[in-house]
Amino acid sequence: MTELDYYEALEVSRNASGDEIKKSYRKLAMKYHPDRNPNDKEAEDKFKYLGQAYEVLKDEKKRAIYDQYGKAGLEGQGRGGFGSGQNMDDFMDIFNSMFGGATGGFGGGGGRQRRQPNQKYSLDSEMEFSLKFNEAIFGCEKKIDITYKVPCDDCEGTGAKDGKLETCNYCNGQGQVVMKQGFMSFAQTCPKCHGEGQKISSQCPSCSGRGYHEEPNTITINIPAGVDTGNRLRVQRYGNQAKNGQRGDLYLTFHVEEDEHFIRNGSNIYIQVPVFFTQAALGQTITIPSLDGELELDLKIGTKDKEQFVFKNEGVADVHTGQKGQLIAQIQIVYPKKLKESQKEMLEKLQESFGVESKPHKSSFDTAFSKVKGWFA
Ligand SMILES: [Zn+2]
Ligand SMILES: [Zn+2]
Repeated sequence: MTELDYYEALEVSRNASGDEIKKSYRKLAMKYHPDRNPNDKEAEDKFKYLGQAYEVLKDEKKRAIYDQYGKAGLEGQGRGGFGSGQNMDDFMDIFNSMFGGATGGFGGGGGRQRRQPNQKYSLDSEMEFSLKFNEAIFGCEKKIDITYKVPCDDCEGTGAKDGKLETCNYCNGQGQVVMKQGFMSFAQTCPKCHGEGQKISSQCPSCSGRGYHEEPNTITINIPAGVDTGNRLRVQRYGNQAKNGQRGDLYLTFHVEEDEHFIRNGSNIYIQVPVFFTQAALGQTITIPSLDGELELDLKIGTKDKEQFVFKNEGVADVHTGQKGQLIAQIQIVYPKKLKESQKEMLEKLQESFGVESKPHKSSFDTAFSKVKGWFA
């Protein structure tokens, strides 16, 4: 269910150039091309998704929409919902209500670079957050210490002493410079002022020219059941603050700690169950731990080493659908390392009682012995 971010899928950074994206796409598309991976559904899906990602990121306009609004922003486009004159802010509201609530939601793409002119930093912020194994599985309420950027009062967020900015003399305040090549001319963002049209003559001493201060804050958020390492949660309006007081969003990326008994793989849980050889031979019923208590495991007579027993709906809830995975108990048969004289006698007696059945190697190798002799006769 969880989809890779387009940048992650193409294995490039968020500020990769068009060329870098193209290069990486070609390399990956070759690797996952159906001709090279016949009958491999996973490779085929990956190949298709790469195409989808490249279709968007190679196009500057589409890429900008994706950066700002994620995949949902692009889906609205074709239907004329957005991009046909409707206000972007309206769309943002719809987007927000879709992923609703103060608890935040999973964004389509995430990491949108919302930046207004003269805005020194991105309004969205990112943070990694560690969760205990059980906190991720059952969900929890968490108090988190964050910091967010607030425009510096002394320089009004400009980074310039007393807020005094000079007109950039390289572009005459236009923010763009026109380059000529032959009879072609094209506009480029001014390299000196990065498109702002203004420059700082002396730095604001209060913020060392950064234009912002960092504020600490403790927030409480609800983490949904089933999150896993790498999942991103968008917490609305806890990002950095703009000059008009509005806050961007905070993106939390989770890291989930491991457990000593339960091994998680997506929504499935694996557990290794040590079983004494007599228990396996007798097919006893044993009690094993499950995520929310205990389970009865009926070993059948003659259970083998590494045999797996599957318990449906005893795994982890999928963070998107709530559908629970399986708990898979894998048997590890344990033999005694030493035998007392009395135990040895009992085992020998037991073996005898099985007669021919206790020496399966004899019957199965009978023909092999005479065949091999025949090779050298
Ligand atoms: Zn300042
Ligand atoms: Zn300039």
